[in-house]
Amino acid sequence: MKAEKNSTDERHILLKQIKDEVLNLTSSPLYAERVKNKVSPVIGEGNHFAKFMFVGEAPGRNEAATGRPFCGRAGKILDELLASVEIPRQDVYVTNIVKDRPPFNRDPLPEEIDSYGPFLDRQIEIIEPEVIVSLGRFSMTYIMKKFDLDFLLEPISRIHGKIFDTKTTYGEIKIIPLYHPAVAIYNNKTKDTLLEDFKVLKNLV
Ligand code: URA
Repeated sequence: MKAEKNSTDERHILLKQIKDEVLNLTSSPLYAERVKNKVSPVIGEGNHFAKFMFVGEAPGRNEAATGRPFCGRAGKILDELLASVEIPRQDVYVTNIVKDRPPFNRDPLPEEIDSYGPFLDRQIEIIEPEVIVSLGRFSMTYIMKKFDLDFLLEPISRIHGKIFDTKTTYGEIKIIPLYHPAVAIYNNKTKDTLLEDFKVLKNLV
C-alpha cells in the first residue's frame, strides 16, 4: 500500500469536487433527463476511508429522488446482506458507475458508462478501497476491465463470489463480483446465493 493516504479533509474536498462536476455535467447523455424529472444525480455515500466499496449500476427512482445510492428496494436487500455478515453500512462506501437515473431504469448505455466512469475511477483513487464489490454484470464488466482482468471475465453466473486479486496505483486490492441485489427482490434463490457470497466478505473484514 501507498505509505501515506489522503487526509480526511483532502478526501472530503476531492469527493465534493466530483459532486460539483457531476451536478454541472451538461454534456452527460442523462443530464436533460435529470433536469426534466427534477431529480438529483447520485454520487455515492459512506465512509471515505472504507475498506469495502460497493459499485452498483445506476440510480433507480428512489435514489434519483433522494440523491442517495441504494435507498430503495434493492438498497433494503443490500442492507440485509450487510447485516448478515455484521458489516455496518456506515463503514462501507456505496456508489454506482452511472450517476444519473436512466429512463425507466433501463440498462445503462455504453455512452453513459463512458460519461460517468471517470468519476467512479476518481472515487476509487480517493477512497483507496482494499476490496471492490461489483453488483451486477455492468459493474462487474467495468471493474474487471478497468483493472485489466477482462481476460478472466465470464458470465456472472460463473464468477459471482470469486475473489480476484489485482494491483492499483495505491496497492493490491481484491475484486469480488456479486449478483445485483435487485435480482433478489423477486428471486429467493438469488437472495440465498447473495447471502452465501457475502460470507466471503466476512472473512476479509
Ligand atoms: N440499483 C443500482 O444499481 N444502484 C442504486 O443505487 C440503486 C439501485
